[in-house]
Amino acid sequence: MNLQENISLELLNTFHIAAKARYYSLIKDAHMLQLLLKHPFIQNLPKLILGGGSNILFVKDFEGWVIQMALEGIQQVEEDSNHILLRVGAGVSWHQLVVYCVNKEYAGIENLSLIPGTVGAAPIQNIGAYGVEFSEVFESLEALEISTGIIKKFKKDDCAFGYRDSIFKSSLQGQYIILYVTLRLSRQLTFHTSYGVIQEVLAAMQVKELSIQAISDAVIHIRQQKLPDPTLIGNAGSFFKNPVIEQHLANRLKNEYPNLPSYPQADGQIKLPAAWLIEQCGWKGYRHGAVGVHPHQALILVNYGGASGQAIYQLAQEIQQSVAKKFGINLVPEVNIIN
Ligand SMILES: Cc1cc2nc3c(=O)[nH]c(=O)nc-3n(C[C@H](O)[C@H](O)[C@H](O)COP(=O)(O)OP(=O)(O)OC[C@H]3O[C@@H](n4cnc5c(N)ncnc54)[C@H](O)[C@@H]3O)c2cc1C
Repeated sequence: MNLQENISLELLNTFHIAAKARYYSLIKDAHMLQLLLKHPFIQNLPKLILGGGSNILFVKDFEGWVIQMALEGIQQVEEDSNHILLRVGAGVSWHQLVVYCVNKEYAGIENLSLIPGTVGAAPIQNIGAYGVEFSEVFESLEALEISTGIIKKFKKDDCAFGYRDSIFKSSLQGQYIILYVTLRLSRQLTFHTSYGVIQEVLAAMQVKELSIQAISDAVIHIRQQKLPDPTLIGNAGSFFKNPVIEQHLANRLKNEYPNLPSYPQADGQIKLPAAWLIEQCGWKGYRHGAVGVHPHQALILVNYGGASGQAIYQLAQEIQQSVAKKFGINLVPEVNIIN
């Protein structure tokens, strides 16, 4: 049986927490996964699906079976004059897929360049960046139901995509293993440049004619300037989601804190930047031993080397408490906490 015991997860999560998995398998084909799931010993184990480990915090060892998805393949399944449908293995690196599409001039995911992790995890929290969300290019996915071993197809309406959210993070959490994702990319080049400093960077790069390659390059440049590289400093990107609150609450906070940035949403609610709230509570650049809050980006908690998952979790809780006390807002972690 392809089941390893007592495996260190240190190199398998971008926080570089030295937790252990009691059992571990690297899954390269769906049939093998189906066979393993039928095994009575395995059926009784708690299970955790792992991609690139870039959105996960291990607070302690995992006393069950860690299933790391390594299904490969980018397959063109359909095309017409406007669109291309790509069916992609869950284990393909997200950025590798972006590079593939940019090279072929398939538009739609260039703003999502350099997001760490795998294609199979992209639907889980509906990854997003620079004004684009994964759900905009999503066509369907195939996922294995853990309890039955049956492969089910999910269309967009089945997935309940929201801001850093999907049905796989809520009512179906832990019930399905995503095997393949099909994306609908466009031959029509529509550029999303209004978000953040993309236009400034394009101008600095002296881009004369917009292309998806130029946008991808600009996004990569911004991300490399702004975000800590997890291979150098352990982190999992934004630790908390940006809170979305009712308009009357936002108005009340604005009266008290006139500099509070706020972003109206289509449904009338207001999104607030969690980084601003955390910074106002004095956490930006905080460091205690091996754990801290990044000096340039208050939303990113970091492991400077050798930190325990428990220490990072504790820091996250202290931040939540101080933001709740000062602003009356409960920050919700974006990172999946395994405890
Ligand atoms: C430096 C940095 C920057 C980041 N920037 C962004 C950003 O701009 N936008 C953004 O949205 N995210 C960002 N992230 C978060 C992260 O990159 C994404 O959430 C990514 O999709 C996680 O992929 P993964 O393969 O590493 O997932 P993992 O961390 O391995 O898993 C995440 C969750 O998905 C589940 N899961 C993983 N694969 C599967 C599967 N095949 N089937 C079922 N469940 C599965 C896991 O059980 C877990 O609950 C960033 C992270 C880092 C470290």
